[in-house]
Amino acid sequence: MLKMTSSNSALPHFKKPISISHGPWEAYNDFSEHNQLTLSNIEFTTTNLCNMRCSHCAVGYTLQTSDPTPLPMDLIYRRLDEVPNLKTISITGGEPMFSKKSIKNVVKPLLKYAFDRGIYVQMNSNLILSLDRYLEIAEYIDVMHISHNWGTIDTFTEVGFGAMQKQPPLKAKLKLYDQMLLNTRTLSEQGMFISAETMLNKSTQPHLNKIHNEIVYDMKCQRHEIHPMYPADFASQLEVLSLREIKETIHYLLDHRHPGTWMLFGTLPIYPCIRDEEDQALLQKLRNAQNVSLRNDPDGRNRLNVNVFTGNIIVTDFGDENGTLSNIKNDKLTDVFSTWLKSPLAQSINCHCAQFSCLGPNILVKNMYYPQSDFKENESNMRRIYTMD
Ligand code: SF4
Repeated sequence: MLKMTSSNSALPHFKKPISISHGPWEAYNDFSEHNQLTLSNIEFTTTNLCNMRCSHCAVGYTLQTSDPTPLPMDLIYRRLDEVPNLKTISITGGEPMFSKKSIKNVVKPLLKYAFDRGIYVQMNSNLILSLDRYLEIAEYIDVMHISHNWGTIDTFTEVGFGAMQKQPPLKAKLKLYDQMLLNTRTLSEQGMFISAETMLNKSTQPHLNKIHNEIVYDMKCQRHEIHPMYPADFASQLEVLSLREIKETIHYLLDHRHPGTWMLFGTLPIYPCIRDEEDQALLQKLRNAQNVSLRNDPDGRNRLNVNVFTGNIIVTDFGDENGTLSNIKNDKLTDVFSTWLKSPLAQSINCHCAQFSCLGPNILVKNMYYPQSDFKENESNMRRIYTMD
């Protein structure tokens, strides 16, 4: 067990549990509180190592076989101390629980920092390692986020290791699948908030019933996250759905999901400003559905990503578009965030419509589905329609 005592106060900070009405990662909450986009979430890439090589992995091309030496934690703490509105930390990899060295030198110190400051923590994991590893840190994780895109067992054995040069034997892969199901269920039953994310693409779309039922009944996850897949890194090799197919699939999910389980939709390519009756009806259906929430994309709106080895700061979803923004060795995170917000790329998509708590599209969504749209112009039109000024 990870032993922690708070150095800042005698008692640990009280954290309101995560729920559909309390999502500390929602960028709109920061916007409402501060009347502007505000940095409140730092995502750390803590390892380049992983026991899998999923074809859809968002960081696929950066995975390596050994980790370099991380930057001193004192520098990382100092940069976090300088973020006054820090609310959440996300820990990602690779598989953050894969390397014992990384767990000891980076993950646990970050968990301790978050604990001391009352910061919410999300970890992105595949939950495939031995249960003990996850139990050791369970108490300090507010959201354990996993990807679940396995419509068939063949998808797991093929796509889950799709980018691995030397393939493990089939029997070993099947055992890992069972271990993942059991780990998830056991941790869920012990009270861990596990959010399983499914990407909508041509591979998952025919199997969404099976995937959803597994997440709800077999893995007992508290939340099923749905994100359309956009072409980035390894994911560009898989087939994305057309805009029409995505909308039909959302309807299907709303009609067939288990209403007792929270379903969160993120980075949806439908917006209140798009003049299309069917789109607006779908948005209304989403708003009316019980236990369903919509989330603004946090990347670049309240979140920056820091690589603990290089110190590079990026906006994850914009990595390919914008490259590295700066480095924590040189700059404060709040300064980098302000500079990013002033950049032409951020300016082109950072619209805001209070009527719908909407903070605009993700750049991948815009480029793929709305390349000709000017969302700043849409924002002006919306203001005129809803007299928001
Ligand atoms: S915030 Fe942007 S994307 Fe959202 S409704 Fe307004 S103009 Fe459209």
